[in-house]
Amino acid sequence: MLSAPRFVPRWFERSGRTQLSKAIVEGSDGPAGKGSKGRMKIDGACHCGRISYEADINPDYVTICHCTDCQAFSGAPYRFTVPVKAENFKLHGQPKIYIKTADSGNKRALAFCADCGSAIYSTSLDDRVVFSLRLGTAKQRAQLVPKYQGWCRSALPWAMDISDIPRAPDPTQ
Ligand SMILES: [Zn+2]
Ligand SMILES: [Zn+2]
Repeated sequence: MLSAPRFVPRWFERSGRTQLSKAIVEGSDGPAGKGSKGRMKIDGACHCGRISYEADINPDYVTICHCTDCQAFSGAPYRFTVPVKAENFKLHGQPKIYIKTADSGNKRALAFCADCGSAIYSTSLDDRVVFSLRLGTAKQRAQLVPKYQGWCRSALPWAMDISDIPRAPDPTQ
């Protein structure tokens, strides 16, 4: 289980992908509060390597999303992401875009590699100011610890703690 966050920022309570985007655009110091200067350069690529990127992120914004859309799109129990401003995000290669329309009518562009299917990012279809980067593709992913998790009501009941699941031995090299 994740330890309790120091405080839950208002933008996260209201859930806020919109609030989160706003905080990023406005250059908020992030969930760790004023004075947090956490910046980190990360880079990554899809599985086949056709799409790659570099990004300058704030590790305090790393989150998990348990929403049912993220479960379906990622093919996994939850999604692991960090937002990045367009100016701090450099993409190489041309991803395929799927447009998701939410119940609210809000449209988002979800980018993935057309060859290997790895998810790369999502962004607002209208402004593309902030990109939500899918961290399973980041080389530094083991160092990026989620600070918050959202949409917990649709979390798979077992996904909150997998430490008791019996472990198969790692394959030998
Ligand atoms: Zn690929
Ligand atoms: Zn989600």
